[in-house]
Amino acid sequence: MAGAVSSKGCQKIRGSQIRDLLDAKRYVLFDCDGVIWNGETAVPGAPEVVSLLKQQGKGVFFVTNNCTRPRENYVQKFSRLGFNDVVQEEIFSSAYCSAVYLRDVAKVQGKVFVIGGNGVYKELRDAGVPFVEEETDVAGGSIYDCPLDSEVRAVLVGYDEKFTFLKLAKACCYLRNAECLFLATDPDPWHPLRGGRVTPGSGSLTAALETATERKATVIGKPSRFMFECIASQFGVDPAQSLMIGDRLETDILFGANCGLDTMLTLTGVSQMDEAEGYKDSDAPDKKDFVPDYVVDTIADFLQAQGED
Ligand SMILES: [Mg+2]
Repeated sequence: MAGAVSSKGCQKIRGSQIRDLLDAKRYVLFDCDGVIWNGETAVPGAPEVVSLLKQQGKGVFFVTNNCTRPRENYVQKFSRLGFNDVVQEEIFSSAYCSAVYLRDVAKVQGKVFVIGGNGVYKELRDAGVPFVEEETDVAGGSIYDCPLDSEVRAVLVGYDEKFTFLKLAKACCYLRNAECLFLATDPDPWHPLRGGRVTPGSGSLTAALETATERKATVIGKPSRFMFECIASQFGVDPAQSLMIGDRLETDILFGANCGLDTMLTLTGVSQMDEAEGYKDSDAPDKKDFVPDYVVDTIADFLQAQGED
């Protein structure tokens, strides 16, 4: 976007600067993990921030690449962690948006073969999108003798803790048909766990299938624009009046940039200030969209901002 480049820049804001920014926005989009909670622990002050924004009449939405649970389970999680006024319609997960895409955009005529978990299956079922029921592969079964469903017209890959070689092999067979759609819930490479451990993300499983098929998946989750289009189509959200808040530069901040939203990095999750500064100082033009407009230590800073003149 010509003209906007000079204003880009990791601006650390606090107090009245935060208040002025929020006053100028009608819609706030939050990533979840690393922003409003870390695993099963709410970021201190985050429930109060969400309530405050809603009391101020702002549209608040939650945009998560996590496809492991259906939206109704998210409502329970919000409630469990002290977010008492969040409703299902405000939650946009990559599993839900993948189901919307298959139903409303791709209008897939046939079944979906899923590499993924309960969150993906439940959202497809709720959206009325037909899929191949999760199979329990027979021990010792191989791609030579396993059944393939002739009605499959799409393969959807998401986070799958039961990922197997046989699932990968079946997906490869389906994708030999050039008419068969190839979708990924999200591109996340890995996720932090407690105790310094990590788990591979959907993106790593998608990469395996992309290599094996020599095809590229259509990605539904951030940084692709589709999740914002979902929100915009349901709530009439104006990008110019929206702020995207995330903890990961390569997904959340790039998503905001791709959708024409102002972006804010919060330092309670994956990405840190030095990485943002590194992208800002980079000469590569394609790195500029990883640079957040604003940075805060935590969204709890929003609470303080209300009390200051
Ligand atoms: Mg996150």
